[in-house]
Amino acid sequence: MNSFRDNLRKITPYVPGEQSKEKDIVKINANENPYPPSPKAVEALKSFNTDTLRFYPNANANILKEALAEYYGVGVKNVFVGNGSDDVLALAFQSFFCGELPIAYPDITYSFYPVWCDLFNIPYKTYPLGEDFRINIEDYKEPNGGVVIPNPNAPTSLGEGEDFIRKLLEYNRDSVVIIDEAYVDFGVYSSVKLTEEYDNLLVTGTFSKSRSLAGMRIGFAIGSAELIGVLEAVKNSYNSYTVDSLSIDMGIASIKDDEYFKETINKVIATRERVTNELRSLGFEVLDSQTNFILATHEGYNMKELFDYLKTKKVFIRYFSLPRIEKYVRVTIGTDDEMDRFLCEVKSFTEGK
Ligand code: PMP
Repeated sequence: MNSFRDNLRKITPYVPGEQSKEKDIVKINANENPYPPSPKAVEALKSFNTDTLRFYPNANANILKEALAEYYGVGVKNVFVGNGSDDVLALAFQSFFCGELPIAYPDITYSFYPVWCDLFNIPYKTYPLGEDFRINIEDYKEPNGGVVIPNPNAPTSLGEGEDFIRKLLEYNRDSVVIIDEAYVDFGVYSSVKLTEEYDNLLVTGTFSKSRSLAGMRIGFAIGSAELIGVLEAVKNSYNSYTVDSLSIDMGIASIKDDEYFKETINKVIATRERVTNELRSLGFEVLDSQTNFILATHEGYNMKELFDYLKTKKVFIRYFSLPRIEKYVRVTIGTDDEMDRFLCEVKSFTEGK
């Protein structure tokens, strides 16, 4: 007997960090920014003319693209925008990875990549990170159908410099290389400039982390006019208006407030360094983060137990029950007060052992 159920898509989705509505929690589990968005973005929201909502948003979100183009020193034709960088990345996977060879990415990386590969039937091959959780660049010499790497990588928090990216691009002149720069603003080299030299390079970015606008869902990509053109064509075969009018206005206001942007980034970095040092002094091993989160472990304690314990204290961090990182926890950098509460509960966990 045939059933409509035979025709339903069977897929295992990506699971984001828990979004609890509980009061008085320390939510450091989804790499969100603990500081509010730019006051200029908030002003854009408050002065938003709701009458304009009758109309579709600005065609191709061009005014947001212009602001991004000016900020990054590229042409408007080199900019693509979408509903968060997950949307941009999902479109890029569909647009650029249509070959027969498997695409390449590290074994420990953003766990959405295998989900998109399954969804879009893209063959893939993962290359193991070294013992130190670094990417072995020589692995990416092997012929492939494309490459995607976050820089800095997540959840390892480790970033790579220009030499590494150039080598990667030299080894992969015939593949599209996507560098996912979701966390780049917290202290690592950005490959945006290289898009002028390499027409097979696409760099993706987001307003969710460094710009405190995860709730507005604004993502973007920078690349050659050719790659951007293909992304536009695929997007326009699917949903023409992925960025709404309010997001466009708030995104522009945020981009134009560089002072506030730098101020919040510096605060997050300073707190990250302090928390890293304090955890190390408690005997934790903490990777040298270049992001707004840290990956930490301790030889003497079970990290799943620490995760569960902290949850009972209303401190939400992230634990991945995945090979090679099941001995670690990922902790987003919150405000100083939030991190003090986190550190205090970590101490009470270790003392109770
Ligand atoms: N890339 C990486 C590596 C991420 O961790 C995230 C956040 N989960 C994203 C992309 C997507 O972020 P957003 O869709 O909020 O832009």
